[in-house]
Amino acid sequence: MTRRFSLAASAVAAALLAPVAASAQQQVLNLYSARHYQTDEALYENFTKATGIRINRVEADDAGILARLRSEGSASPADVVLLVDAARLWRAEVDGLFQPVRSATLQQRVPATLRGKDDGQGSQWFGFSTRARVIMYDKASVKPEDVDTYEELGDPKNKGRLCIRSGSHPYNLSMFGAVMERIGPEKTEAWLKGVVDNMARAPKGGDTDQIRAVASGECKVAVSNTYYLARLMRSNKPEDKAVVDKVAVVFPNQSTWGTHVNISGGAVAKNSKNRDAAVKFLEYLASDQAQSYFANGNNEWPVVASTRLDNPALATMGEFKVDTTPASVFGMNQVRIQQMLDRVGFK
Ligand code: FE
Repeated sequence: MTRRFSLAASAVAAALLAPVAASAQQQVLNLYSARHYQTDEALYENFTKATGIRINRVEADDAGILARLRSEGSASPADVVLLVDAARLWRAEVDGLFQPVRSATLQQRVPATLRGKDDGQGSQWFGFSTRARVIMYDKASVKPEDVDTYEELGDPKNKGRLCIRSGSHPYNLSMFGAVMERIGPEKTEAWLKGVVDNMARAPKGGDTDQIRAVASGECKVAVSNTYYLARLMRSNKPEDKAVVDKVAVVFPNQSTWGTHVNISGGAVAKNSKNRDAAVKFLEYLASDQAQSYFANGNNEWPVVASTRLDNPALATMGEFKVDTTPASVFGMNQVRIQQMLDRVGFK
C-alpha cells in the first residue's frame, strides 16, 4: 500500500449525518478516551451539533481506561472507547471489553488491516487515524543511509547515537511487534539488544523529548511518531523552529517492507446502553469531516484514503510506503516482545 498525499486531491463532500431526532436532544454518550489532544474538542462539538447527542468524556491513558473497564464490569457506563495503540485495542477485544459492530459505513471506509478481525458479527474495533513511527536524525552529522531502516537502529555503526522512549511504551511495543513479524523472533531479540547498546542515554520522556534531544546534541538519532514533528513544524515558537531546522526525518524500510504505522481507534464498549448512538459516533469518526480533522488538526493520517489534506507539515513529509502488517498482529506479538525487552535490559 502506498499512501498518496496530494494537495490537489479533489474535495470530497462532507458525509451527511442522520438528521437529529427529537428524542436525541438529551441523549448522552459516555466516551472513555485516551486521546488527550486538545484539538479533539472540535470533533466532539461537531458531533453534538450534527446529532444533538452530548459527549461526556472520561480521560485516561490506554492502560488506565482498560483497568477501569475491567473493574467496572457490567456496571460500566462506558459507551465508546478511544485508544491510541493497536495492541491495546486488540488486548481489550481479547479481554471481552468491546462488542462487535457491523456497519456498512465502517466496513467500507476503514481498511481491513486497520480494524479488528471480523468473526462474522463484525469487527470489535476500528482505526480512525494512523501515525507513522519514524526515525529522525541530526542533519549535520548523520548520513540518511545509515538510519533508513529499523534494523540499523541496532547496528553498531550507530553506537552512542540513539534516543528513544521507554521500550515498554505501547508505541514501541507495537513497533517492535511489527518488526518481529518481518524478521522473526530470534533476529528481533538480537536487534533489540543492539538498540540498547546504541543508546546515547537511558530511555526517558516522550517522543517530543527525543526530537529535542537530537536538536540539543545529546543524541544524533531519535524514534518518534510523525505527528510530534509535524506539531513542531507548525509551531510559531522560535525554539521549535530551531529544532525543526536541525532535524531530518526518514521513513524507514522504503525499499523493503515499509514504515510501521500504528493507529488510534475506537470501539463500542461491551456493556454500552446506547449502542446505536455509539455506532453513530464511530461512523462520524470515519466521516470526511472527522477524517480531515485528524489530518489537519492533529497531524495524523486519515484512514479514509480520499480525505483531502490541507496540512503543510504532512505535505512536506511526502508520501511513503506503509507496512501492511495487520494492526492486530502488534498485540499478538506483545507478550514475547516484553519478555525480550526484559532479557536485553530495555527499560
Ligand atoms: Fe501520542
